[in-house]
Amino acid sequence: MVEEGFSPRAMVDSRTRSGKKSAGPRSSRGRSRDRALLPKGGAPAQKGTVRLALVLVALVFINCYVFLWRDHTSVPAVMKQAQAMGNDEAATTAPTPAAAGDDPGGATDEVAADGELAPAPSGVIDGEVAKGDTVGKILRSNGLSAAEADELLRALSGVFDFKTLRPGQRFRIERGPDGRVASFELVVSKIITVRAHRDDRGELIAVEDQAETHLEVEEVGGKITSSLYMAVKGAGERTSLVAFFVDVFAYDLDFYNDTHEGDVFRVLVEKEYKGTEFLRYGHILAAEYAGKAGTFQAFWYQPAGTKKGRYFDAKGQSLEKTLLKTPLKYARVSSKFNPHRMHPILHKVRGHFGVDYAAPVGTPVWAAASGTIVKRAPSGGAGNLVEIKHDGGLVTQYMHLSKFAPGQKVGQRVEAKTVIGYVGTTGLSTGPHLHFGVKKNGAHIDPLTMAPQRAAGIAKKDAAGFRAAVAERQGRMNAISIREGGAGVDDDKDEIPDDGSGVGGVGTDDADP
Ligand SMILES: [Zn+2]
Repeated sequence: MVEEGFSPRAMVDSRTRSGKKSAGPRSSRGRSRDRALLPKGGAPAQKGTVRLALVLVALVFINCYVFLWRDHTSVPAVMKQAQAMGNDEAATTAPTPAAAGDDPGGATDEVAADGELAPAPSGVIDGEVAKGDTVGKILRSNGLSAAEADELLRALSGVFDFKTLRPGQRFRIERGPDGRVASFELVVSKIITVRAHRDDRGELIAVEDQAETHLEVEEVGGKITSSLYMAVKGAGERTSLVAFFVDVFAYDLDFYNDTHEGDVFRVLVEKEYKGTEFLRYGHILAAEYAGKAGTFQAFWYQPAGTKKGRYFDAKGQSLEKTLLKTPLKYARVSSKFNPHRMHPILHKVRGHFGVDYAAPVGTPVWAAASGTIVKRAPSGGAGNLVEIKHDGGLVTQYMHLSKFAPGQKVGQRVEAKTVIGYVGTTGLSTGPHLHFGVKKNGAHIDPLTMAPQRAAGIAKKDAAGFRAAVAERQGRMNAISIREGGAGVDDDKDEIPDDGSGVGGVGTDDADP
């Protein structure tokens, strides 16, 4: 299991991401072939033969190198070479474990691509976490006694979150002259390495190393020729940027129907680097999409003292809609809003001021928007009722709940899509369903036909700061020169997925009507 599973594709990808000129084995092989053709052109026979032989030797060597490397068999040699080169270039071109891109679970899934581990001397076991591994399993299968493994696990427990162990992460176990474990190292991500080593007193001490990274704000732009995906690729960016971009405009643009040839996009995006190696995208600070469907702009802004930023248009109005149309999953509308409905139990005209969703008892019910719980109690015909007060004079009501979500109370603030209770049939009800009501400034409105509700815009106190940020970013976006898109050539399907954790405040819920 020593050093297996490094992916050459990932290696090529890491070059691409790091923005280095691609001088990889692929292109050098191509050049060698070109040269191999030259001697046939009538050079003096002997000289030509010698040159041909030399070129052939070189060609065979390079092919072996590439071929073996592709088969994951000569990675140690590559590692050594990277070490020997001993500079940033070497670090950024060292292989990335294949599993790095397999699981879109987040930054912790990003496994280091650098050659931090020195070539293995004797007494050192280098390996890679396999599927189904636990740290304990790894230690024992590499010859540690149960007692030794326990000691190491105890040392790691305060420092390493064992749940973040992922296939493809590299580890190193080093034994001292006395045969005991001297150190253990696990490369958790591109940024985090966990190390345990035996100190002078013979105790194993674990620490977490966090590599320094930095953010750069970069301009990206392109013109649609076939798709936004291709245009982003054509602009030299990773395709994960597309998802972020689509999220920013999710409430206003349908990128399946609204993208047309000739449309132009511009983005100011944070990019996180370790040295010169690109790790992932941060926030899209500003974005513009101009096309047949219109011109749309978005500016990310986080007022001082707030926890997360949101997207606004240039005037400071929120781009996000606040209200989920349906506050639960997997339900069908069983009764619509109707002010003159005959009540099924009372058998008299009693308006139906909401929408009924038939759903099994126990189906989680979400807060349709962020807000404050103002009622949470059994309430006669409404059964177990939750009422939430939102910005903009809106109140939402959730009736007939079988039970309330544990641990919540009146006065508590909840985010959109927080579970606030479970479908039931309490109160005046003929069967399990959720009655969802919306009040605007005290009057009931129809949730199914109400106009989209926008989240709050920029507050007055933040207006000046926001305007300054918009002006600066607008200037930078205007300066982006647009090349034709669609020329993407890098096969970056192996790229490490961004988890979106850096893109704060992007609504990905299904609030869209
Ligand atoms: Zn109802």
